[in-house]
Amino acid sequence: MPSSDATTAAAQAALPTRHTLHAPAAVLDRFTDSELASLITLRRTLHANPELSNVEHATADRLHTALRALGVTEVQRVAGTGVMARIPGRTHGAPVVALRGDIDALPIQEQTGLPFASQVPGVMHACGHDVHASWIVGAAMELLREPAAGDVLLILQPAEEIGAGARAIIDSGVLHGVAAIFGGHVDRRFLVGQVIAEPGPLAASADSFTIILTGRGAHGARPHEAADPIVAAAAVIAAVQTIVSRRIDPSRPAVCTIGSIHAGVAANVIPDTATMTGTLRATDAQTRALLTTELARIAREVAAAHGVEAVVTIERGTPPIVNPVREAAWARQAATAMLGADAVVPFGITNMGGEDFAFYMEQVPGCFLRVGARAPGEPPTAAHSPRFDVAEGAILVGAVVLAACARTASQSLATGRGVDDAEPSSGSSNRPML
Ligand SMILES: [Zn+2]
Ligand SMILES: [Zn+2]
Repeated sequence: MPSSDATTAAAQAALPTRHTLHAPAAVLDRFTDSELASLITLRRTLHANPELSNVEHATADRLHTALRALGVTEVQRVAGTGVMARIPGRTHGAPVVALRGDIDALPIQEQTGLPFASQVPGVMHACGHDVHASWIVGAAMELLREPAAGDVLLILQPAEEIGAGARAIIDSGVLHGVAAIFGGHVDRRFLVGQVIAEPGPLAASADSFTIILTGRGAHGARPHEAADPIVAAAAVIAAVQTIVSRRIDPSRPAVCTIGSIHAGVAANVIPDTATMTGTLRATDAQTRALLTTELARIAREVAAAHGVEAVVTIERGTPPIVNPVREAAWARQAATAMLGADAVVPFGITNMGGEDFAFYMEQVPGCFLRVGARAPGEPPTAAHSPRFDVAEGAILVGAVVLAACARTASQSLATGRGVDDAEPSSGSSNRPML
């Protein structure tokens, strides 16, 4: 266990005040001082002790302990280093809703200089999953004092960064009978207190590929005796740029990036092979399919023009996240009730990043939100940067909004009502509409 007195002291150093958390008063007022301190300390302790995908052992222990300390009786391990908890609803048999937070860190050397910076060389919470894990614990606080109609499953998921954890949770069978699922990601492009909860694409598919070009090596001085895979690779790299520019409908976002190329060992030797890898991104299934078929076709045919054979392997990753209208309306209603209508802002961005929450949405309808995580005046540092940090008020906003999503979805499903025929929100209320 990496826990130490030094870690705890660093995590508790200069805890933010209610004012410096920058979260809306309606959100802060829902938590006691001791709850705020425990959530911030939990996040800082996770941040100081990051663990890579599928080895989140101490992280899972800490989250398990935090949930049990709240009085949650049903807490168990799932999918190896995941944790699952069940918060009882008001009515036995009412629809069950799941909330998911991911918990893994990245292989990055932290450069934030924070007092609770990573104590693990080369490992860092640079994507905010320490915050996501903490806001699920905060959502448990919320759902214990104001339960949903049905039970709420809290899923603390390992291994998001390698696209494996969601599938492992699904394979464990714990989502059986779950009627809706909600999750979110911190976003430094938006201020603390702002939330994106809207229908449509929220994340892209992320498929990776390998192209192996096999020609015929020769002396660098006698290229006419070779079938040069390096020249073929150069032609393939240029040609695949036309997939996005000439083959994909300009109104549909798509990316084809070649991220690595390896060939040859000496200046005067033409090698037999060249290998390239890359990533394909799309926000709809049709574009996703077109990217893979066109990549394979162009690589093969361009290589053939150089007398070189291309073997293209596609490794399918996460599908796109496309929030459905009904579940997005519930999330929007929940966020509006908690934060006010002005806080629910348009995304206005096409996110070509991948997110393995998409695998849940293939099984269970839901909504994925973006949660503002920048304090006023701070720069919008990108996730996966060694200087990434999150304004901690986002923990409370995420907790309150996700708990409200669970209540709103559970109640709407229980009464068989869509959001359209639910009672109109007062707009100024900071309570969820149930
Ligand atoms: Zn990430
Ligand atoms: Zn992430």
